Amino acid sequence: MCQLLPGVALNTLGLMKESMTESRSTLCRSCGFCCSGVVCETVVIEPSEDSAFVEQYRDHIIASESGTGAFLVEPCPAHDNICTAYSTRPIDCRKFECSLLKRMSEGATSLESALEMVSELKGALEKLVDQLTKANKCRVTHADALQRVREQLREADDVARKKLWRSSPEYMLISFLIDNHFK
Ligand code: SF4
Ligand code: SF4
Repeated sequence: MCQLLPGVALNTLGLMKESMTESRSTLCRSCGFCCSGVVCETVVIEPSEDSAFVEQYRDHIIASESGTGAFLVEPCPAHDNICTAYSTRPIDCRKFECSLLKRMSEGATSLESALEMVSELKGALEKLVDQLTKANKCRVTHADALQRVREQLREADDVARKKLWRSSPEYMLISFLIDNHFK
């Protein structure tokens, strides 16, 4: 009986690891903010990158000004609700973990709570997209909407910036959620 216990413990540990892998996959599949340009703006392309990925997305890869590296601007062309280049994705993507994913992996938050956070950010982004779509009469992506407000804020003086913050509560919520849960 006692001899069986280590095996049982190992089995339980294996199942827990498997279940965490599934939870991580479920969360990232329902999110994708680090691929769509919401949480990250670029993906670093290293010299040792999988040549299949580099070949397929060559036209999207930009050499850095220093000439020592390269990057890809998000939204990533391989992102179509999920990563369509998963087996050849860049090293930067393989290494990246947002704080929400880290917290869930450490057991500090449940999958359900993490999914609710993703859903809350999606809802706020949709509201911002609706506002901009009405104002500009053309549909924009989540990343476009964020980019536009960020540019307006960058170019505004202090008074205009305060007005912009007040007139866009969605943007305030989005910034808060991204900075506190996804960076
Ligand atoms: S932002 Fe975080 S939770 Fe979302 S896909 Fe990227 S790593 Fe996963
Ligand atoms: S290659 Fe895949 S994981 Fe990396 S940013 Fe693009 S869609 Fe996301």
